[in-house]
Amino acid sequence: MLNIILLGPPGAGKGTQAARLQADRGMVQMSTGDMLREAVAAGTPVGLKAKAVMERGELVSDAIVSALIGERLDAAADKGAIFDGFPRTKHQAEALDILLGERGRKLDYVIELAVEEEALVTRITGRFTCAKCGTGYHDQFKLPKTAGICDACGSTEFKRRPDDNEQTVRTRMAEYRAKTAPILPYYEERGLVRRVDGMASVDAVAAQIDAILDAGA
Ligand SMILES: [Zn+2]
Repeated sequence: MLNIILLGPPGAGKGTQAARLQADRGMVQMSTGDMLREAVAAGTPVGLKAKAVMERGELVSDAIVSALIGERLDAAADKGAIFDGFPRTKHQAEALDILLGERGRKLDYVIELAVEEEALVTRITGRFTCAKCGTGYHDQFKLPKTAGICDACGSTEFKRRPDDNEQTVRTRMAEYRAKTAPILPYYEERGLVRRVDGMASVDAVAAQIDAILDAGA
């Protein structure tokens, strides 16, 4: 039963990998944003507390988030956890150690899906899809066999997502660095950080993550 933090900027495929780890290994994703919404909807003790705070227009405190994670860890006692979106600060990282320690568990790895910014810009700004059937293409890596005609359905209309532009990618990378900068040194010091190539294919990234988890199992 391994407990990991999964880190990766938008476009690195973190969601895909988390979903796969849940399906293949029965791990439980602890995404604090989703957990908060679910706890409020389900009316759990922590959820009720969080709801009252949010209704007053205040930010949910570390204590509430910690309680929420504790609740979720207890509910999935025999399953490995994938933390996503928490911790964001050194204080939260310490709180997570305590939460796990209280349950006889520990954090095993911090796995970062590393991407190279320029390559990510190229990957994201070049992608487009067929407007009719949704088949994905790329300006550099996968053009239709006949220019302007979808290989799959013959349509001549294509579309791009408005946020697939360079500025958005760079802003998200900057946000990601700001978010992880406070916690990476904390985990680096303890030798827990493992980096995998987030620019590789989904299967190749999955294989790299599996190798890390299997080595530590
Ligand atoms: Zn098509």
